[in-house]
Amino acid sequence: MIPFADLVTQHARLRAELEPVIAEVMFGCEFALGRHVEEFEQAFASYCGASFGVGVNSGTSALHLALLAADIGPGDEVITTAFTFVATVAAIAYTGAKPVLDPLLELSARHGLAVIEDAAQAHGAEYKGRRVGSIGDAGCFSFYPSKNLGAAGEAGMTVTHRPEWAERLRRLRNWGQAERYRHVEHGFNYRMAGIQGAVLDVKLRHLDAWNDCRRTNATRYDAAIIGPLLHPLVTRPWARHAYSIYAVRAGDRDLVQDEFRRLGVETRIHYPSPVHLLDAWTDLGYRAGDFPHAERAAREVVSLPVHPELSADQVAQVAAAISKISAAADHGARPTAASSTRFANNRP
Ligand SMILES: *Cc1c(COP(=O)(O)O)cnc(C)c1O
Repeated sequence: MIPFADLVTQHARLRAELEPVIAEVMFGCEFALGRHVEEFEQAFASYCGASFGVGVNSGTSALHLALLAADIGPGDEVITTAFTFVATVAAIAYTGAKPVLDPLLELSARHGLAVIEDAAQAHGAEYKGRRVGSIGDAGCFSFYPSKNLGAAGEAGMTVTHRPEWAERLRRLRNWGQAERYRHVEHGFNYRMAGIQGAVLDVKLRHLDAWNDCRRTNATRYDAAIIGPLLHPLVTRPWARHAYSIYAVRAGDRDLVQDEFRRLGVETRIHYPSPVHLLDAWTDLGYRAGDFPHAERAAREVVSLPVHPELSADQVAQVAAAISKISAAADHGARPTAASSTRFANNRP
């Protein structure tokens, strides 16, 4: 089975680079923040085209603190998307503000609102020639091990152009301390571990090559869709995707997943339910049918292995499976993926 992710191979290849820096952290005992984290903050902020980077213990914490730096709290509304990982909405709720699921870019420009990018799956992606994360007031990244840039455990970062936000973020992640034991506001223990700074600084040097590899694999897969049963995602001319996942849409997703499995390709679903239909988030007050595009995407998307550790043979095998399944060459007629009525009663 071609694995959906393969960090064992990635780490085996980086062994000579990783072992010495991990030993430096262990025996230098800089476990929370420290030199390795600072070096990585600078390297990653400049990679994003941002002025400051504030390393924290997860992507969720990066989002939470960026919202606090924007002075979001009870009584505020934060506009976001329903088709995302649940952390995007949870971080808003942590501040006491109300998540509102609506169109947003145009609105924020018109009303001069702060924009916080959830770039947790988009390290190195570009929007109109700019690296994502540096477009709004702050950009938030996750370094969960399976993301494009992954830590040896949990880590995250908020990058920003705003010096006053950077200062506030540094304070908030470290118990609201302006200096040691001078606590000037309520804060959190959201510090990035030293070992994560060291590991991420090594891996950052490989990120562009890894993303190029993901893009090459994705181009190959796009070209392999030769029939009507799989639909590639549209990439706009101004977008440069980082392919954290490679997703296709399929009308009959269960069947398509079975076929991929039969052909030795592991698949995943990101994500099977939009946030407003999750049991935990019914209190947002939305119902099925409120966000038809997000709901349909959640029913149709399938993610295929696209990671840079795939061998040439494995990429060829995934591409062959895509061709076969998209054309339904060996299993007769199938309903077209575009027919949505078929799924009217198939709520997640
Ligand atoms: C992974 C992810 C997060 C959360 O990051 P963690 O590091 O797991 O806390 C937030 N938003 C999106 C879109 C993600 O993919």
